[in-house]
Amino acid sequence: MKLTLDRLCITSKRLCNNCNKKLERGIVSEVDIEIGNILLNAAKSQKNLNNLSVTNIIETSGSIYIILQSGNLGIISNSKDHLLSQLAKYSDKQVTFLEKTKNTKKLIEDLLSPIIPVSTSTVMLPPDGEKELKVQVKQDDKSKILSSMELSQVTRAILGMYAHYTYV
Ligand SMILES: [Zn+2]
Repeated sequence: MKLTLDRLCITSKRLCNNCNKKLERGIVSEVDIEIGNILLNAAKSQKNLNNLSVTNIIETSGSIYIILQSGNLGIISNSKDHLLSQLAKYSDKQVTFLEKTKNTKKLIEDLLSPIIPVSTSTVMLPPDGEKELKVQVKQDDKSKILSSMELSQVTRAILGMYAHYTYV
């Protein structure tokens, strides 16, 4: 299993210099250590989980997003109930597994499901052509999804670009 910190650092809860730097720079947080341990424990009985590769873990006010390497959702499908029940013992936040993807449209659909956005478009920003994502959601659907700040946080972790959510 590949996690967001070294396996040994997660199980011992004593971070090496490299892992400590990630923590100081805010790339990971305590939640990465806790969830790492939960996943490693689950893999003792559910061997298929050893093939899992976790790229980011994002905690928002009401949810925890575990971002997996592309194609990894299939690995957890049989263990999902077990995993979610173990994770529920640690946090009462809703836990969602998402796959890393370059397919912007698919990501936004997964993230907003069952809400369907009005439009999703990528714009290039001058002067260096940095990409930014613009997503429009119906005003009526606003209360059914995360806040735009939280959505931007998750979108950025997966796609590596800023996203602006607007309501029309
Ligand atoms: Zn380490």
